Amino acid sequence: EAAHKQGAILCANIEAEHFTSHRGTRIEVTTDPLGGDFNSSYLDSTDYMSYRINVPQTGTYRLEYRVASPTGGTVILGRDGTDLAVTNVPNTGGYQNWQTISTTVSLQAGTQFLTVYVQAGGWNLNWWRLTPQ
Ligand code: MG
Repeated sequence: EAAHKQGAILCANIEAEHFTSHRGTRIEVTTDPLGGDFNSSYLDSTDYMSYRINVPQTGTYRLEYRVASPTGGTVILGRDGTDLAVTNVPNTGGYQNWQTISTTVSLQAGTQFLTVYVQAGGWNLNWWRLTPQ
């Protein structure tokens, strides 16, 4: 957890609960078979979780979210109020039925705060991940 908060990550799971700031979220124990200890829950529209991330190089990254939802929703990865990637969260069959969803995002090198923003709620987040393409 300490490493995450110092921004020394990438290519590893960023646990949802390791945010540096947030609005409106709660943490609960996850039953994801892949692990992850806790997941963020009670995600409603306009809630967010912000993370300090050290992006090693400018370029395109695979962006993955580990999500569970009985309804579906929408997640945005943003920086400084700009939307970098808008992704639909599917109906996975329940709040502890986990799927990994994937998209791509262009990032600039450097240590920065990236925000997982809840556009349409009704889903849980266990972790997310960035992988250089
Ligand atoms: Mg987790």
